[in-house]
Amino acid sequence: LNPATEDVVKTVHMASADEIDAVVSKAQSAWPAWRDLAPGSRADVLRKFAQLVSESNEELARLEVLEAGHTIGNARWEAQNVANVLNYMAGGVERLTGHQIPVAGGIDITFHEAIGVVGIIVPWNFPMPVAAWGFAPALAAGNTVVLKPAETTPLTALRLAELALEAGIPENVFNVVPGFGKVAGQRIVDHPAIRKICFTGSTAVGTSIMQASASQLKRVTLELGGKSPTIIFADADIEKAAKAAPGAVFDNSGQDCCARSRILVQRSVYDEVLAHMEPVVKGMHTGNPADESVDMGPLISALQRDRVKSFVPDGAPVLFQGEAPTGKGFWFPPTVLAPISESDIQYSQEIFGPVAVVIPFDDEADAIRMANGTDYGLAGSIWTRDVGRAMRMARGVESGVISINSHSAVRYWTPFGGFKKSGIGRELGPHALEAFTETKNVFISTED
Ligand code: NAP
Ligand code: MG
Repeated sequence: LNPATEDVVKTVHMASADEIDAVVSKAQSAWPAWRDLAPGSRADVLRKFAQLVSESNEELARLEVLEAGHTIGNARWEAQNVANVLNYMAGGVERLTGHQIPVAGGIDITFHEAIGVVGIIVPWNFPMPVAAWGFAPALAAGNTVVLKPAETTPLTALRLAELALEAGIPENVFNVVPGFGKVAGQRIVDHPAIRKICFTGSTAVGTSIMQASASQLKRVTLELGGKSPTIIFADADIEKAAKAAPGAVFDNSGQDCCARSRILVQRSVYDEVLAHMEPVVKGMHTGNPADESVDMGPLISALQRDRVKSFVPDGAPVLFQGEAPTGKGFWFPPTVLAPISESDIQYSQEIFGPVAVVIPFDDEADAIRMANGTDYGLAGSIWTRDVGRAMRMARGVESGVISINSHSAVRYWTPFGGFKKSGIGRELGPHALEAFTETKNVFISTED
């Protein structure tokens, strides 16, 4: 469905467990030749893939607008991110070096061996980038891939698979199979020939995947939910911090695992911060995501809209709220809740929609305690002009990704992932390929 209009965009076949089995066995057969391809040749074909993705930027972005309701500006960035990630990972193929370790009586060297068939399970909130953060390093490291997109957003992944073939990636190396999580996704997790699962999505499903993988000791990388804080100290550039805070929650309509959905403000500047935030929130333009001037599109589905709505029941402490279209489409306006307390569900649970809470804190110790006071630990932003405080906070907050005086987005060349229930393992960055390999140690005797 087009989430902005509720019109059917396309009907897509959902794979059965047997169909998954058939794809996995093809991916298994295709593996040795792909693994054994000379590193430079594998890199070349991935660069060609990147080039085709770049050339198809507008087409991919339009598909993303249509099926996911992302704003066109964001969608173009997302499609380009896929090309960038492919290029970056292609650069890793020839740098996937091991160690030479000093030993007595011989030589000791390590290899990063490909794992085999990797299963990648993708959510609907960033269908293209999240898929690429898995498949690009997996392919670069010499694995074959079976990728299941989210049931609501299969179209961009299907198009990427066509572009991969066109680029010269051999048949059955990169397989995209739309299907339901409980059928196709579950079979990917349970299939004994799939040696690793790379999953992004909810903490609940991530936990069940880790449990199911344990019986086979299957490797897992899990990128799960978040309830990340923006922390604004009184010594910060208050206007800049306050005006940036709404965008850090409401971008992609809040459907972002890194959304800074808890805004913690030092008590002495609480009113000042809210005064700067209010016009920004009320001025956000929610509407047709294909319109270049729109800041926020719809939510992905009626189900997601209802989930988000349940966090803002009648009588909820809505401090201020922006506008959203009425009528067809899964709309929800940008909403700021205050006063709110640490025991409220809006404070502790991931809403995954355009709803932020604002809450005051007293001092650094209080800010760290509150920042760390949820099950999650994915991202966080710290606003202060005091360098020592910035570093104490950055080290004190239990999160995988911290930005100081900014709400920096994820960069493909720096590591990304969560502490606590936000996940396990890291994606992207200089070591991305290693997560898709096994280390092999080889000793060669030099004795006569
Ligand atoms: P989800 O159920 O975790 O879905 C993520 C992916 O896992 C989808 O491809 C899904 O397939 C698949 N899946 C579902 N059950 C599975 C199973 N038993 N075995 C294997 N794969 C399975 O997420 P959701 O239901 O779409 O969203 C629910 C909530 O999760 C959101 O409100 C949000 O809080 C959170 N979420 C977080 C992220 C993130 O980036 N951290 C992303 C998405 C959602 P289907 O598409 O068929 O369900
Ligand atoms: Mg689901």
